[in-house]
Amino acid sequence: MSLPDPLQHLIGDKLDREMNWKSRCHRLNGYLPATCSSPVFIKREDELNANAVGTKHRKYLSLLPTLEHNGNDRIILIGSAHSNNVMGLAQLLRSRGMDVSVLIKAPGNSRLMGNHLLLTMLLPPDRIEYISHREWPQVMEIADQRVAELNKRGVSATVIAEGGYNEAVLPGILTLAADLHRNIGELGIDFTDIWSDSGTGVSAIGLLLGMRLLGLSEPRVHITLIAGSPDEFQHRYQQFAQWLTKLMQQPLPPRCPEVRFMQPASAASYGSINKTILSESWAIARQTGLLMDPVYSVKHFYTVKCAMERQAPTGPQLILYNGGTLAMCGFQSALASQQPIV
Ligand SMILES: *Cc1c(COP(=O)(O)O)cnc(C)c1O
Repeated sequence: MSLPDPLQHLIGDKLDREMNWKSRCHRLNGYLPATCSSPVFIKREDELNANAVGTKHRKYLSLLPTLEHNGNDRIILIGSAHSNNVMGLAQLLRSRGMDVSVLIKAPGNSRLMGNHLLLTMLLPPDRIEYISHREWPQVMEIADQRVAELNKRGVSATVIAEGGYNEAVLPGILTLAADLHRNIGELGIDFTDIWSDSGTGVSAIGLLLGMRLLGLSEPRVHITLIAGSPDEFQHRYQQFAQWLTKLMQQPLPPRCPEVRFMQPASAASYGSINKTILSESWAIARQTGLLMDPVYSVKHFYTVKCAMERQAPTGPQLILYNGGTLAMCGFQSALASQQPIV
């Protein structure tokens, strides 16, 4: 099946031909309050890719073809030792035979665990460089130096910024709105609200811009800010809107969906977890059958639950679930320390 117009025309030839851009929607059983008039559905972005997060997978749909087309000898990735982006992209690039090195923020914990362990399994020591916390603010300059050093040795290289923040991800992230449009058509349900989480914001921005292109000013979009502020989000939105205008060579349609930002209902600072989030992880697993990672999805679902309890929804609801279950292996002992609560 091709993308709906005008997206097919705009991005159809910019996506990897073999990677999947469709995920299913089904009723969520348990955890979130549902009624006859406001059933709750979940969009299984986690099923797009068994080894990378859904939001990341959509970015890679167009990033990978661009990187392959540019033909660099080396791709340099940047992120924390537990970054889902670095771990996801490193797998896809290595499995396509590409040479990858990473600049990693030195982790506080020297024990190999979680994504840091998995990344170390994927890359040899000479492809992993640790950057101290003191030097981390200059990591982009350090990456540019590494590119210059490689170029001197006749090796071409390119850098992917933290979180995959890059113009080449734009076509890929627009597929979420197209896929949502497909789900809505197949289910025959008009959702009044969509609930998304956000880290760099790039995926939620893709949803908003894609909806704008398709002329969808509904459903309303609620965004749990797992990282960053509304101002940072708006700033990035403007940047991507500019890139999209360039791609379209005409102004964007003016109608946009309504947007609401939410702070996480518990453990608000990025990467932190606490007793509430750990016990909600158990509750979600027991009640829904879904194993969710505490840092993004559990915080997101708990925040949605609190918002729905404060104000009951008035129409069909759709929650985006992006996955990242592999990252749970970094939280084994914390999760195990919680008594099962239900
Ligand atoms: C990266 C990530 C997100 C957020 O995606 P952004 O495009 O950075 O906003 C959400 N959930 C998980 C599990 C992630 O790894």
